[in-house]
Amino acid sequence: MKTIRLSVLILCLCCGIITWACAEPGNPQEKLTPIPFDANRAFDILKKQCEFGPRPPGSDAHTKTRDYLFAELKKYADTVSLQPYTSEVDTIDDPPKRKTLHMNNIIAEFGSKHSETMLLAAHWDTRPCADRDPNADNQREPILGANDGASGVAVLLEIARILKTTPPPRRIIIILFDGEDYGKTTDQMFLGSRYFAKNMGKWRPDYGILLDMIGDKDLEIPKEQFSYVANSAFVDSIWKRAKKLGLDPFQDRDGPAVLDDHVPLIRAGIPMVNIIDFDYPHWHTLEDTVDKCSPKSLEIVGRLVVNIIYEGL
Ligand SMILES: [Zn+2]
Repeated sequence: MKTIRLSVLILCLCCGIITWACAEPGNPQEKLTPIPFDANRAFDILKKQCEFGPRPPGSDAHTKTRDYLFAELKKYADTVSLQPYTSEVDTIDDPPKRKTLHMNNIIAEFGSKHSETMLLAAHWDTRPCADRDPNADNQREPILGANDGASGVAVLLEIARILKTTPPPRRIIIILFDGEDYGKTTDQMFLGSRYFAKNMGKWRPDYGILLDMIGDKDLEIPKEQFSYVANSAFVDSIWKRAKKLGLDPFQDRDGPAVLDDHVPLIRAGIPMVNIIDFDYPHWHTLEDTVDKCSPKSLEIVGRLVVNIIYEGL
């Protein structure tokens, strides 16, 4: 993902500002049901993805990870599907070569088709080049993506287990996007979410939450600005819920505008909020490794999302 200036962001979105209507009116008296989120299990899933190695599209590790994630979701979801697509992209070679990449979004469905649909998203691919690494010799190497990739997926796979154990009161679609982090330039990134935004079909959600880079040990999550400009009420209600739950890393302040997988969906008319800690010094470097992440951070985000699934906003 990339950050852009707020003025550009406002220009981009001014033609399509979306109004957020709460799916259920909030009730300050309601009793919040504590459904346990297993932080250690989520962290094991983060580590398991990293054990495959860097997972850029086209690599063996990418194929193995796809099969692992599909098999895991099969254990818990009503249905699991691959959404295949291809993209013509430039490789990171110098000079770049043109290449056709075969990729897959992985989509799992839970709950009744007759209720509102909430989308939960993360990206499962990792960046093919550590182009932010301070050491120039490393900049053509692929990143491990413990935080940038594996962390969001880990939380969603633990949530999949919870959804099987405790059926949700609304329809939940978990989507793991492919090709988020591929290209050198943003026109060759967010490939899976762009494809999905044009081909939502039966999976079209009413609204959704994207998780990205939420494993950082030093977790701080301000309000991401693409989400906020498109739908401030939606963002505010999520941050208010975090406060109610005592989840201090959710900070009531403006964060950066981060181009990410939620933007194609916002542009397609779906209210989406990106929960992201973009203040991560190891972003797109070879240092984005397991030791920079913590089970506690996954738990903080997981607890909030589980609460929203079962209690509404
Ligand atoms: Zn990235």
